[in-house]
Amino acid sequence: MIKHLLRQTKQSGLEEIEHVKFLIITKIAYFALAVHALLIPAFAHIGANMLAIVNILSVSAWGSGIFLIKQGLTSLALRVFCLEVLIHAVIVCATLGLGAGFQFYLWTVSCILMIDYQLTFKWAATYSLLMIATFASLYLFFSDVTYGFAYPELLPYINVINVIIAGLPMVYGMGLIREITLSQRVELTEMAARDPLTKLYNRRFAKKLISMAHKKSIEQDANLCMVMADIDRFKSINDTFGHDKGDTILINVSKLISDFISEDDIAVRWGGEEFLLILTNTNEQQAFAKIEALRQQIAELDAHPDFPDLTITMSFGLIEWQPLAPIEKMLQHADTALYQSKHLGRNQTTVAKGSNPTFDDIDAVS
Ligand code: GH3
Ligand code: MG
Ligand code: MG
Repeated sequence: MIKHLLRQTKQSGLEEIEHVKFLIITKIAYFALAVHALLIPAFAHIGANMLAIVNILSVSAWGSGIFLIKQGLTSLALRVFCLEVLIHAVIVCATLGLGAGFQFYLWTVSCILMIDYQLTFKWAATYSLLMIATFASLYLFFSDVTYGFAYPELLPYINVINVIIAGLPMVYGMGLIREITLSQRVELTEMAARDPLTKLYNRRFAKKLISMAHKKSIEQDANLCMVMADIDRFKSINDTFGHDKGDTILINVSKLISDFISEDDIAVRWGGEEFLLILTNTNEQQAFAKIEALRQQIAELDAHPDFPDLTITMSFGLIEWQPLAPIEKMLQHADTALYQSKHLGRNQTTVAKGSNPTFDDIDAVS
């Protein structure tokens, strides 16, 4: 139910909470209106005529609140409801005693006031504490009020019903805040981790992921390959088609890369049109075959819908990670291998061999 409500909301942050709160308050308001309407004949029936009259006023308060919500004045409506609950609780406890449990609604209202973001924290806390102080005062002033109306045997049941109805919005409200907080935390982490254009991991976040993958490969004695990739002659693509079209091409190439790699692999937008790939559980030969397949797919990609004849190519530099070598060293080797691919004419994959490769021990394959 909470997830359903969250899905209905497109806004984020406080706006999202406010919108969900609006949906909940509206539902609660109709529910409270119906309950108070039913209490009118119930109180009249047990002979508590004064309470029946109080409930007529309550119904009009909840009705006015619903009207205010429809006018967009949710916060004002919320305050009308809180005031109604406060007055209702005091009068009912003074008349029926505390055994019927109407005082517990003050706790609910106390929680609701705390999440009224239209109030400053100071005022929300003040009103909230006022509700709790009123609750405590009811025990001081009305604990010896005895129930003197019909059906006294029903009192414990009414008490239980009130406790449950008063408790539900508190649990629901806390659950809602919990869900929104968690989903926002995930969203923020994703935002901090991803490059906004390509949605691939950004360089800063990727370093953490890569060192985790590296540690895991050492623990599991698995192979790990690092690939540096760069789009060929991208500057001239930008110059020919414009920067916006260039962005679309970057997005499409990135999408192909992330669809192509395995779930445990890592794709990073390392710089402008440069990407870093970490291929897990992959040795040098397997990585080479995989990257060659990727290279061919990129060359066949419809990189931009407006230019069906456009061919994009990429150059790659590959190194199998020597387990004890630091990341910087591996990056350097992958970069050198990439440079060699460019040097040899682009659209090819170069494998850097050994833990300390130089240009002499680099293989280029096109
Ligand atoms: P090479 O084959 O040697 O890699 O040539 P290149 O033209 O791809 O390399 P160069 O480094 O000279 O140019 C890279 C270009 O990538 C320049 C820059 O404008 C473009 N670029 C970098 N980031 C973005 C981006 O986010 N969007 C667009 N449209 N272009 C970008
Ligand atoms: Mg380039
Ligand atoms: Mg580049």
